Amino acid sequence: MCGIVGYIGEKQATNILIDGLSKLEYRGYDSAGVAIINNNKLNVRKFKGRLSVLEEDLRQNEIQGNIGIGHTRWATHGEPSDVNSHPHTNCTNDIAVIHNGIIENYMKIKKWLEEVSDVTFKSETDTEVIAHLIDYFYEGDLVDAVYKAVEKMEGAYAIGVVCKKEPDKIVAVRKDSPLIVGIGKGENFLASDIPALLKYTREVYLIENDEFVVLTKEDIKIFNEFRQEVKRDVFKVTWDVESAEKDGYEHFMIKEINEQPKGTKETLQRRLDDNGDIYLDGIKITKEDLENINKVYIVACGTAYHAGLVGRSIIEKYARISVEVDIASEFRYRNPIIDEHTLFIAVSQSGETLDTLAALREAKKHGARILSLVNVVGSSVARESHDVFYTWAGPEIAVASTKAFTTQLMAFNMIALHMGLTKGTLTKERYTNLIGRLKELPNKIQTLLDQYELIQEVADKQFNNEKVFFMGRGIDVEIAKEGSLKLKEISYINSFAIAAGELKHGTIALIEDETFVIALATQDRLYEKMLSNIKEVKARGAHVLAIAKENNEEIEKIADKVIYIPETEDELTAILSVIPLQLLSYYIAVARGCDVDKPRNLAKSVTVE
Ligand code: GLU
Repeated sequence: MCGIVGYIGEKQATNILIDGLSKLEYRGYDSAGVAIINNNKLNVRKFKGRLSVLEEDLRQNEIQGNIGIGHTRWATHGEPSDVNSHPHTNCTNDIAVIHNGIIENYMKIKKWLEEVSDVTFKSETDTEVIAHLIDYFYEGDLVDAVYKAVEKMEGAYAIGVVCKKEPDKIVAVRKDSPLIVGIGKGENFLASDIPALLKYTREVYLIENDEFVVLTKEDIKIFNEFRQEVKRDVFKVTWDVESAEKDGYEHFMIKEINEQPKGTKETLQRRLDDNGDIYLDGIKITKEDLENINKVYIVACGTAYHAGLVGRSIIEKYARISVEVDIASEFRYRNPIIDEHTLFIAVSQSGETLDTLAALREAKKHGARILSLVNVVGSSVARESHDVFYTWAGPEIAVASTKAFTTQLMAFNMIALHMGLTKGTLTKERYTNLIGRLKELPNKIQTLLDQYELIQEVADKQFNNEKVFFMGRGIDVEIAKEGSLKLKEISYINSFAIAAGELKHGTIALIEDETFVIALATQDRLYEKMLSNIKEVKARGAHVLAIAKENNEEIEKIADKVIYIPETEDELTAILSVIPLQLLSYYIAVARGCDVDKPRNLAKSVTVE
């Protein structure tokens, strides 16, 4: 998920590796390391923390050498630490591996390696198994050993490998994690992203899934999974560094919005076992534990709080436990009733949100079991929890959270289904059916993203409207709140969200000619009621954009514009209906000329109370 750089040529590898990694720093990472071959020696240096820590070490104690690999890690398995940093090596320190992504079956491989060889593992990472696997298959031909190792691996990976017995090459493989090769003269480069190489070359090969690459000083060879050589056209990079960082998108926010099919898919697929059942490795709550729980508190801030509101509906529905959702900064001051029968769920993208952390500590003090949903491995919230669900959205850079939110929703669905089945409140049949429906969501998100032009049109007409309301019923209210927050934070429009049934108890007084109302009407059992609410605001002159499930065309007669989300269960619509709202706030903010990725007065990770 983070940075890979490789170099082979005449120059000092460390300088190029550090420089390349520094160009990938913007992605976020928790540790950095390099492996350099020189004089029949493989030198590895790796440290937790900023790249500057590694740089300083290398300054004080230089490593010479013209071939090497470097990595910035964004931990998924094992907390950020020196030993868990990449490169990882085999027991005899001949082979070094860097890896982006996740090896899903690493536990199985680990067990197998322990049976067939006398390997000892040094780290807690999934990555380390790759180094030992390659070692196991190595019989004097690194490429052959990498092929054999990859056959055993499941998951997503971009890997770079060097071996001191073959100091003339770097071998790399890609599956579902980006990898490129930079073409030089008498030197060649490897990287996970273009910005790392732009200083050195603009000519690259884009490596495709299941392809293997062998880099030498003079040559680059690409092979497919059947070991046949493939020809690739040279790709000439015409973008500048900044747009390369954003993968060609104008802002990180829109890039991250577009990463949601992948993020939600990975969050789900990686936790389905061979039978297609949910397997939550970081959660050890047993049937007895669940029976002992009579209250769930979900506590979070901002967007994560909205994910919690959706989580409440799903947990109550599937696991039949009473759930309260609280804003973290309020929770501990209201003297909540907590004991050993309480399950406290903390939700935080960064895992460093101070209010959430403080609430968690308070709950723990009173005996609650702590489960957290976080995106950053080894973060404070994760470390202080009994059970952790990592959302694996990858680093989120834009201040306005998008992909972290939808992966949190996916996580809540999985936790609720798991709890429901374990408790017996959900039949196996319904559980299996719902997992099937969850699997459809990533493609459905893509369908919505493909319709971005429809939303852009609305944004172009409404961007100057200073009066915006979001409304809905059921789960739709929670998404209305999220849509409104997104709009506020990046476009500075004073919008707010309301339960549609509450309108006539006051707020409808504010509706007048051309007030922009976004009405979510995706819940089948509340659909008719929403139609009435839309009529109420239309009668007062509002301009209405409705979000409805497909095949509910009747709404077109009432609303000014309708965006349809693909058909799914009522409980699962949230993950879809939020997509047009994210796009809407994005395009409105762009039309207003706002600084989308860094909105005024806001910080990505709120570490103050
Ligand atoms: N899963 C690997 C680890 O946790 C790689 C993480 C990354 O992509 O940086 O070490």
